[in-house]
Amino acid sequence: MKTALKYFKETCETIEKEGLTKNEKIITTPQGAKVQLADGREVVNMCANNYLGLGNNPEVIKSAKESYDKYGYGLSSVRFICGTQSVHKELEKKLSNFLGTDDTILYSSCFDANGGLFETLLNDQDAIITDELNHASIIDGCRLCKAKKFRYKNNDMQDLRAKLEEAKDARIKLIATDGVFSMDGIVANLKEICDLADEYDALVMVDDSHSAGFMGATGRGTAEHCGVQGRVDIITGTFGKALGGASGGFTSGRREIIDLLRQRSRPYLFSNTLAPAVAYASIKVLDIIENDLSIREKLFENTKLFAEKIKEIGLDVLDNGTPIIPVMLYDEHKAVEMAKRMMEKGVYVVAFSYPVVPRGKARIRTQLSAALSKEDILYIVECFRQVKEEMGL
Ligand SMILES: *Cc1c(COP(=O)(O)O)cnc(C)c1O
Repeated sequence: MKTALKYFKETCETIEKEGLTKNEKIITTPQGAKVQLADGREVVNMCANNYLGLGNNPEVIKSAKESYDKYGYGLSSVRFICGTQSVHKELEKKLSNFLGTDDTILYSSCFDANGGLFETLLNDQDAIITDELNHASIIDGCRLCKAKKFRYKNNDMQDLRAKLEEAKDARIKLIATDGVFSMDGIVANLKEICDLADEYDALVMVDDSHSAGFMGATGRGTAEHCGVQGRVDIITGTFGKALGGASGGFTSGRREIIDLLRQRSRPYLFSNTLAPAVAYASIKVLDIIENDLSIREKLFENTKLFAEKIKEIGLDVLDNGTPIIPVMLYDEHKAVEMAKRMMEKGVYVVAFSYPVVPRGKARIRTQLSAALSKEDILYIVECFRQVKEEMGL
């Protein structure tokens, strides 16, 4: 065995000893309120990003099928060579219209959108002021960029101001934040962030991956939720969560910014175009969201019901008014044990531990979906109650 491989093996063994191993479970059905596992068991699903239940929506699937006849399967090209079809331009236009922005550029994932953002816009004369709990893709995007980095405490506006003050002399200042923080379900304080940005002549970038499609009265995202539509300069997001759940990402915002990304953003220039069927079906997804507000209403009804009931049984949960409701166990092993017991009762939940969350902050992150019924939710809560009792928590 080559020496290097021994090191990798040891690292995996250490991860296992610490109870931090991540195991994939195999699903044999489409994504939905219930899924079937490889061993044949059917479980209620509480850990998908399928907030609006569109991952297996018949109209969306029909659109994707139509697309294969109209646009083919794949383009074998990046956008600027020969990977742009009318459907890509239509989706960009539709999304700009949906978000109320000047223009939009598509990527094959939001990880790429964030990876190709910062280094394109900023150089060593500039500064990024970034929330400490931002998604890994924002962190990696920042790493690729020569701008000075200033990390502020999660959603702490006093600390953000202090960091803006420190960064005052930079040529460009860009504040970067998740719209909804994926591990705690906290909504970024965009009103104050935009006010501070105005005061310090800074740009605002919001990653709406966990909010586009359902946060805000008409699902436009956290800018709408916080009443700052038109004041956020850059919105990034994914089609891989509420917006259909397939894959793909985008950056949307001011024309000058999107224009420059089309010239220089590396994942856009050097990675293959979004598959046409995903682009075509994403247009349908936006149509559905625009025309049927009852889906997001159902999502928030479910969220409210679950939050109420889970608190009644005395579990330590974070409830920030979003469909992400983590059950806090703190201890890695307890979180794993709880997830395992919940699975045995037929509820699919996952324990989150380091490095996805800080050490000592292990949890089960539950996520609500419009696809769940009231009965599903009551069943899930009853299972949590039983497991809590069995584990003596
Ligand atoms: C999920 C997520 C991403 C990654 O999106 P993909 O399209 O799956 O690459 C980026 N940012 C945030 C905040 C996310 O939650």
